[in-house]
Amino acid sequence: MIQAILLSAAGEVISRAIERIMGRHNGPQPEQMQDFFSLTRPELEEVLTQELGMPRYRADQLFRWVYHRGVCNPEQMTDIGKRDRERLRGVFSFPDLTPAHRAISSDGTRKYLFAVSSGNEEGEGDRVESVMIKQPARMTLCVSSQVGCALGCTFCQTGTMGLTRHLTEAEILTQVFGVVRDAEENFGDMFSNMVFMGMGEPFHNYDGVTRAISLLNDPHGLALAPRKITVSTAGLVPAIRRFFEEGVGANLAVSLNATTNEVRDAIMPINKRYPLEELLGTLRALQLPRRKKITIEYVLLRGVNDSEGDLQRLPKLLRGIPAKVNLIPYNFNDGLGFHPPAEDTLRRWQSELQRQGVVVTVRWSKGRDIDAACGQLVTSSTRRAKKEAARRQQQSELVSVSQRPNSGENALNKSRELEAADFF
Ligand code: SAH
Ligand code: SF4
Repeated sequence: MIQAILLSAAGEVISRAIERIMGRHNGPQPEQMQDFFSLTRPELEEVLTQELGMPRYRADQLFRWVYHRGVCNPEQMTDIGKRDRERLRGVFSFPDLTPAHRAISSDGTRKYLFAVSSGNEEGEGDRVESVMIKQPARMTLCVSSQVGCALGCTFCQTGTMGLTRHLTEAEILTQVFGVVRDAEENFGDMFSNMVFMGMGEPFHNYDGVTRAISLLNDPHGLALAPRKITVSTAGLVPAIRRFFEEGVGANLAVSLNATTNEVRDAIMPINKRYPLEELLGTLRALQLPRRKKITIEYVLLRGVNDSEGDLQRLPKLLRGIPAKVNLIPYNFNDGLGFHPPAEDTLRRWQSELQRQGVVVTVRWSKGRDIDAACGQLVTSSTRRAKKEAARRQQQSELVSVSQRPNSGENALNKSRELEAADFF
């Protein structure tokens, strides 16, 4: 299981933790402290017993306080002796779970902004968003895996930010427990499932995301079953394979969003590296447990990928893949030049796919009034993002006019290719 695979990474984490702890002579320096959220229970046990001479069961006690009771201040951990409480306070940094901002939509969806770094000289820290989506029968927690995203899909607001950095597992957990604490204290609810569909491409940050999943699975922690977690990818093929080889156990969602390489190349530059045949071939070859399905996300963009031809091609492309299709009407983003499909089109897609025996659901957007819907997450209003949005506007105008955006070799496409090349 994933715990086993994480062991090699664990050695490194523990020695880093020990180095920090041993290197401290003049009292705790915040930057030298070990992030509590970044240690799995076996890693924590090792640090506590080997370096701090504490009993092994302290790890379980700490896990219970932090992950079950949401107590992040050792002073309040009353079943731990005073001396050890003080030492813990000097060794581990416990995250601040208070969101920097929270917005509540008229449909009950809540959007949270978390400050995940203290900031640079200009006072600009990294910030990420998480969304608690309220649905009739369940609540979904949507978390971010990166600050920004390197993949630059042309319809996605996060894509306009470029990539600032990966989030650590500790920062991913901070979002989860920050939302959980607010949910318990102020709303009396709790999420039923969790998706990596916020900012970023989770498989670009494979280690951070899989370590976070393993921490969330821990029976002494949140004990969240892997089947309650879904990781959504734009199609990083090697990571998809690795995810299944390593038996991570979480569900997989793949953002397909096109039925031809021509259109997919234009709206999702990652397709140039892993084209449709390779992506779908990989999905076809996966050995999935019985009854498990891969979710195929398909954002409907008016006049770009929602033609009758697309509709007829989609079920053929999915043949042999245990798939369910999630249709997502595009959430409008100012300045990107894309539009939601006509209502008739959405209905036609839903009924035709059903008629052809495809399991299909529609993702109705939630939290649009607070910009919390899919693809609307962006936390930077920096010049860079604005400049990029303007550039996208020009590019996507070309997309909708020609419908074959790749055919025109223009400077804009060239620069997008360069960015993609940087990443791959
Ligand atoms: N990077 C991952 C996960 C984050 S995006 C991925 O691309 O899968 C989560 C989902 O939001 C993806 O399916 C993406 O195609 C979709 N999306 C992005 N922008 C959107 C928008 N404006 N409207 C609707 N869905 C959008
Ligand atoms: Fe990144 Fe996903 Fe947005 Fe594409 S859709 S830019 S992969 S977050």
